[in-house]
Amino acid sequence: MSFTIHGIGVSGGIAIGHAHIVSHARLEAARYVVPSHQVGDESLRLAEAIRTVHDELEEVRAAIPPGAPEEFGAFVNLHQMILADSTLSVVPRKIIEDELCNAEWALKVQLDALLARFDEIEDAYLRERKSDVIQVVERVMKALAGQPGYLPPPPSGENADNRILVARDLSPADVVQFKRHQFASFLTDLGGVTSHTAVVARSLNIPSIVALHSARQLIRENELVIVDGTQGVVIVDPDSPALAEYRLRQNEFDLERRKLRRLRDTRARTLDGVAIELHANIELPADVPEAKDNGATGIGLFRSEFLFLNRSDLPDEDEQFEAYRRVAIDMDGLPVTIRTYDLGADKNDDGLERRTPNPALGLRAIRLCLTEPRRFLTQLRALLRASCYGKVNILVPMLASAFELDQTLAAIALAKAGLDEEGIAYDRGIKVGGMIEVPAAALALGMFTRKLDFLSIGTNDLIQYTLAVDRTDDAVSHLYDPLHPAVLNLIAGIIRTAGKSRVPVALCGEMAGDVMLTRLLLAFGLRHFSMHSAHLLDVKQQVLRSNLAQLKPLGAKMLRATDPARLRGLLEELNS
Ligand code: PEP
Ligand code: MG
Repeated sequence: MSFTIHGIGVSGGIAIGHAHIVSHARLEAARYVVPSHQVGDESLRLAEAIRTVHDELEEVRAAIPPGAPEEFGAFVNLHQMILADSTLSVVPRKIIEDELCNAEWALKVQLDALLARFDEIEDAYLRERKSDVIQVVERVMKALAGQPGYLPPPPSGENADNRILVARDLSPADVVQFKRHQFASFLTDLGGVTSHTAVVARSLNIPSIVALHSARQLIRENELVIVDGTQGVVIVDPDSPALAEYRLRQNEFDLERRKLRRLRDTRARTLDGVAIELHANIELPADVPEAKDNGATGIGLFRSEFLFLNRSDLPDEDEQFEAYRRVAIDMDGLPVTIRTYDLGADKNDDGLERRTPNPALGLRAIRLCLTEPRRFLTQLRALLRASCYGKVNILVPMLASAFELDQTLAAIALAKAGLDEEGIAYDRGIKVGGMIEVPAAALALGMFTRKLDFLSIGTNDLIQYTLAVDRTDDAVSHLYDPLHPAVLNLIAGIIRTAGKSRVPVALCGEMAGDVMLTRLLLAFGLRHFSMHSAHLLDVKQQVLRSNLAQLKPLGAKMLRATDPARLRGLLEELNS
């Protein structure tokens, strides 16, 4: 029977394909079929992960300070016992063999069985040990994530390239991993429109919908679904007329995209001749070809933290240097703005959610960098070394206070001094910019314009922090409003103040790629946009059709308006 589910569309277009249900990467691992000739390797992978965890636990034991309570050692003993028990070391191997499945899935199946047995235990103390089993399994899952695993071959035949990924939730780390797979669409039950998960999904340029609430329960594996990412609608098991209608719409959409490609090499200029810079946001060096294919004239935001995700170790200086250098070389002299790692909140290097009371307000981005001077220095050295291979800029995320800026500039100076001492070259004129994404920074901009070479407005966080709306929480996503008068006035104020101080300013949040807002931002005086490659040509087309002189008065009216209906009316007028 056909039915429809509604959510929030985060990336437009239409996909028609068969559902592939995946569970959360951590404990609800995805299931893949492992061909029988690879079963031995898969078992070995599990054995190696278990050995890694064993060694980790021994390290934990060695780090227990003398005189620490006895319970510390007892806890390690208990975890080692759980790890060595045949329920984890032998049974999952048998499951891999019997079910021809990946190690993560086997571990999950076994964990579920164990937990069900724990629930039957009368003794409260023993029942509590359930959490120890979960912790040990989580450690093994994490170790598995650091080992190249079996990846399912792309499906062949009718379903090839047309799989619709359905999940309860995906972390940004999960989504970036899926970049290697061909999916036609992403559907998740949770998530806000500018959560990092949605941001990365959008970068894949495939229709995606979040906040569907019950898609994972309602959609069955392999079921035929239509995804309308523009409207945020999923049609499950569609009838023939619906299918025909959406096939037609899909063709029209694809035709439009092909037409747009003709603009690739056209320079972005308004009708009255003002040049506009359109840069790309990337997560990984592998994203550069797509940026160039869509005519990006630079990389405006390289979210370097994605180099730190999906792995159990940290990328060292040389590995980071190679990644940054690769992008600098591939962009062939065009500017490459690399943001220092913005980990924390919903992006964690171990893939696990930190149990901090308020992650978005906690230790993330530059705050985290400054508490880990060694790790930060490693990145700064790698960035500076890469600056010899192109036009590299450093961008600092989430600055809020003068103190943070001074510490950051001191860390950069220290990295430079170290390289000088070792005779290692770097671009001495390298520019350092700051992201303006905290209202405090926007309102006290002088603190930053005095000491920085450029600014980049991060509207995703600026909106989150201005409106006190968690960008990852779909329960409040209806309140996440880029057109809120406070947001508009903050953005226009930043552009105006930066202009007066002659400090170049770009905008790299999701607003930059929303074609409905292009004219508004132009009217506010923005001349430099950075967005996911998928939106570059749409925005360019809009720039080419716009006349700044006509836009400015309407922009000014919008800054004075406070009534939402009036604001939307003015925006329509601006876009007509
Ligand atoms: C932003 O906050 O607008 C931004 C570009 O950074 P991120 O989305 O990575 O937090
Ligand atoms: Mg941000």
